Amino acid sequence: MFIIPDASSKGVPARITKTDMTLVLFALLSLTLIFVPSQWLTRSKAIDMSDYRSIVFNDHDSGGSSTVSWLDKESLTWRCIIPPNTANPYCGFQLVIIDDKGRGLNLDKYSAIKIWVKYEGSDEYLRFFLRNRNPAYFQVDDLTSTKYNSVELQVKDLLHGKRINLKDFQVAQWWLVQKKIPIEMSHPEFSDILFLELHTGSSVAPGEHTVSLTRIELSGILFSKEQLYRAIVIIWSAVILLLLVYRLLSLRRTLVATIHYQAELVSINRLLNLQNKKFEDLAKTDALTGALNRVGIREALYEGLNDWKNKRQPFSFVLLDIDYFKKINDTYGHDVGDEILKGLASLFSGAVRKTDFFARWGGEEFILVCANTDLEQAVVVAELLRKKLAEASLHPDVKVTASFGVASMTEANLDLLFKQADEALFEAKADGRNCVASKA
Ligand code: GH3
Ligand code: MG
Ligand code: MG
Repeated sequence: MFIIPDASSKGVPARITKTDMTLVLFALLSLTLIFVPSQWLTRSKAIDMSDYRSIVFNDHDSGGSSTVSWLDKESLTWRCIIPPNTANPYCGFQLVIIDDKGRGLNLDKYSAIKIWVKYEGSDEYLRFFLRNRNPAYFQVDDLTSTKYNSVELQVKDLLHGKRINLKDFQVAQWWLVQKKIPIEMSHPEFSDILFLELHTGSSVAPGEHTVSLTRIELSGILFSKEQLYRAIVIIWSAVILLLLVYRLLSLRRTLVATIHYQAELVSINRLLNLQNKKFEDLAKTDALTGALNRVGIREALYEGLNDWKNKRQPFSFVLLDIDYFKKINDTYGHDVGDEILKGLASLFSGAVRKTDFFARWGGEEFILVCANTDLEQAVVVAELLRKKLAEASLHPDVKVTASFGVASMTEANLDLLFKQADEALFEAKADGRNCVASKA
């Protein structure tokens, strides 16, 4: 498969893939095929002459007096005796290569024929014929109507085999004339060879001639170089196309996986943010009452301080402490004390303005941070809360009140503001509790 470079590899493939190896092997194979010797691309086939009928003949039909006889029919060895002073004498050997279905030999897939001949005698040449049948000129009652594709061969070449290209055959002139073959049909043909013949040469000398056809082999190219190149180009094109499709598919797969991965990351991130927010809220919230704790109120404190510093916006605190809470605990138990703390927090949280922040400062002390509120307004708010608590019934058996200390910022100092609110609270306690005291 193809490599998708990752960020760390900076675009350099990390390893050789199977695809790379396949391409290299395929390139090597293509080069080998291009430079392969053409004889490697040939097919060859020997003709088993024992499969076919063979005869020998002489020139008696054409008025000659040559004699011919088998010396050894098994090895296809025959002898011809040419008498002196005869015109156009000849002897011949014929192999009848017609199969069971009456078909001759089709040489369309072959380009050459190779023959091996042993010869004894004074002749220098032998004639070789491949006689073809074609309904265009063949007549059933005249076997000489087969086309005489012929070559004249030097006997010295024949002992160790002579390769004859089919394109070097010519149709015998006497046959074309005798059969009145039109010029457009005068070329050699090899698609339905009925007879394969070996004759004495056209100017054979008188005397004894011994001829033996030992072997016949057909050869032809499996495919031409042009066909081979075309096949290589087609296969390469197909391979490249397949690789591109494969690469596109794997890129698509990677893209889909990345999108899924990103979606997962986004949802994990969202979950983490939610959890963070939850932990943050928990850290800012008082566990018992659910009101803000000191951490939760910090932001509001610094915002108030900054607004006072930058815009001289008034900023006030209301500090409140439940009256005689120790006694409530002692009389009704700690659980009742807790219930009262929760009840007060719930009562005041729901009662304060949106811009105010209510928090548990510690124990039974609470704080109300009032942004953009001057002392006078803060005292009003504190008085409202005091009244609300005094009138509320947080517990059926317990009357709960609280004392309130109010202070407003006069210097950019939160500690001072707190100290003043605390002093005011102390005053409220001293004034008999369940009341509001303020400190400018
Ligand atoms: P004062 O009117 O002067 O404020 O009297 P007080 O009894 O409220 O005095 P003090 O402020 O000293 O008492 C605070 C008591 O609050 C002491 C402590 O036991 C109790 N307390 C502090 N935190 C809690 C809590 O979380 N739950 C309960 N039930 N009691 C608490
Ligand atoms: Mg207290
Ligand atoms: Mg108290």
